Amino acid sequence: MQTVSTVADLRRIVAGWHRAGERVAVVPTMGALHEGHLSLVRAALARTPRVVVTLFVNPTQFNSATDLSAYPRTLEADAAKLVGLGVPLLYAPGEAEMYPDGFATTVTVGGVSEGLCGAFRPGHFAGVATVVTKLLTQTQADIAFFGEKDCQQLHVIRRLVADLDLPVEIVGCPIVREADGLALSSRNAHLSAAERAVAPHLAATLLAAAERIAQGAAVDAELAAGRSALLAAGFADVDYLELRAADNLQALDRLDRPARLLAAAWLGQTRLIDNVPVMPKAA
Ligand code: AMP
Repeated sequence: MQTVSTVADLRRIVAGWHRAGERVAVVPTMGALHEGHLSLVRAALARTPRVVVTLFVNPTQFNSATDLSAYPRTLEADAAKLVGLGVPLLYAPGEAEMYPDGFATTVTVGGVSEGLCGAFRPGHFAGVATVVTKLLTQTQADIAFFGEKDCQQLHVIRRLVADLDLPVEIVGCPIVREADGLALSSRNAHLSAAERAVAPHLAATLLAAAERIAQGAAVDAELAAGRSALLAAGFADVDYLELRAADNLQALDRLDRPARLLAAAWLGQTRLIDNVPVMPKAA
């Protein structure tokens, strides 16, 4: 595996692949790679051998300096995992390469960036949209892979790619979970043993509420009960628990189309997000 840290080196290698008529895939990550990330890499490798994994802890999408400085950084272990999968290229730029002096452009996506995480993390999706736009144009990838774990982020990226006519196919990949249901996340490393024991209640609560809503239970009552269940299980706070349309994340107060139940909740200082599909019963 080659590792590069400049746009110039990245472009030279990718241009060679494109000249040879090959399709190029990109998997953007912030590192601290786990099986969730690796599932994206495997999905990319199933489409083309020319996969670029990007690793950049993007400061502009963090809401607190503490969260940014505490974010796990494990470059050597990450590289070893990618070598094990047969990834040919790792792009790990520094901050000066991504945001050189004078950098002054922000990509903001309306609509889908609002509400949910957008309401609780001001500027987060502008940070994500800007860095993903840069990573897509830097790598010139034909296909890009993202996890449904970050469901709202995936919608934001689909929107920006459509609106900016970026010539890239966006592929969403299913959430990878621990055996007890907890969605894999780099931030799970911050959980204490006691918090880790509570964490699976997030997925379990979402699944139980989704099941009852699919059976016809009133949406408002189920969302209120779900919130109470999370707090009773030991979550410190629930930022949101909402039912949204699966295709555009519009708010739903009843299940009249395919939907997604999404939540963000705090365990101590760690904020966990998760989501599950909810399908209306066939008439
Ligand atoms: P991150 O490094 O957290 O920015 O995540 C990089 C990519 O991996 C994003 O597209 C995430 O949605 C995806 N990802 C993170 N956790 C999971 C998971 N448990 N299952 C599937 N994809 C994931």
